[in-house]
Amino acid sequence: MDAETRNRTLGTRKDPLVRVRDIKKTGKMLSRDFPVAESRTRPAVKVQDGCNAFCTYCIVPYARGRSRSLPVSEVIDQVNRIHPMGFKEIVITGIHLGLFGKDLAPRTDLQSLLEQVLDSTSIPRIRLSSIEPDEVSEPMIALVKNNPRLCRHFHLPLQSGDNTILKRMGRPYTREDFETLVRKIHGQIPDAGIGADVLVGFPGETLDHFQNTLDLIEALPLTYLHVFPYSPRKGTLAAGFADRVSPGEIKQRCERLRALGNLKKESFYQSLVGKKVSVLMEEKSPGTKGLLKGWSSQYVPVLTEGGDHLKNTLVSVTLGEVVKGLGKEPRIFCMGTL
Ligand code: SF4
Repeated sequence: MDAETRNRTLGTRKDPLVRVRDIKKTGKMLSRDFPVAESRTRPAVKVQDGCNAFCTYCIVPYARGRSRSLPVSEVIDQVNRIHPMGFKEIVITGIHLGLFGKDLAPRTDLQSLLEQVLDSTSIPRIRLSSIEPDEVSEPMIALVKNNPRLCRHFHLPLQSGDNTILKRMGRPYTREDFETLVRKIHGQIPDAGIGADVLVGFPGETLDHFQNTLDLIEALPLTYLHVFPYSPRKGTLAAGFADRVSPGEIKQRCERLRALGNLKKESFYQSLVGKKVSVLMEEKSPGTKGLLKGWSSQYVPVLTEGGDHLKNTLVSVTLGEVVKGLGKEPRIFCMGTL
């Protein structure tokens, strides 16, 4: 910082002043000059920050403050700056994405934001990051179904498949609500990738509660899981809850869920064999024996032969065999041919 800029921004004091505000009183979200990198080919556009929900295990509302959104015009500006840089996909993210627009004047919502981004930009692909199960509306499912620029991918934080545990977590939906939503998405978009976060070993989670989670996931057309072991966060309500589940038990339950998640993933990938999908190519990876890796709209990792010139392009790929544990990669992939 040169002397003139320093004087303008910090005054003429020798010791720079750092001004901080109470995060709980921060009402405006500041636009970033540059999007946060989700990956080298899929930049994230953060449209919302903070949360008002106060789930009993979560520190976010205390640490990040209340929900605030980026004005729609600024989101569109960001996307229109990113696209000419050569990006083909953006990921719309937020701490609690479904609250987008509730703090803006005039009030708006995520559905309207998506419609305006589709209308006012020509970025080829738009992916939504995690969205709360009670905030996915039927019009939003229809929008994803009917617009090929929106990725056929929903990531839903389930956390538990047991109503007693959901209540203790302070989550505002039941296992039945979650089931209805997943079946609705699958009914409308049978090839959608539908992922779920699960928090394992919340205080008071008995084997019966955990079994309810396993049973729900097994019964639903979910396509992958992100499994997290519960650990108490100081300052949250749940940190004071009794009936802690032992770390060893949490580890075992996580392993069972991850195994189930891999089965769901594999069977979803098998269901896509022979289908033609659009894949955003990334780069060759030593972990995948030099094959090009990319991501389909459904969030399926696809490996294919091809030159480096395909990097960061959208290509049509026919999905073939499902492979596991290739090279250094422990993951499951679909092989594809151009
Ligand atoms: S878990 Fe999500 S919805 Fe709940 S308080 Fe944390 S950020 Fe908000």
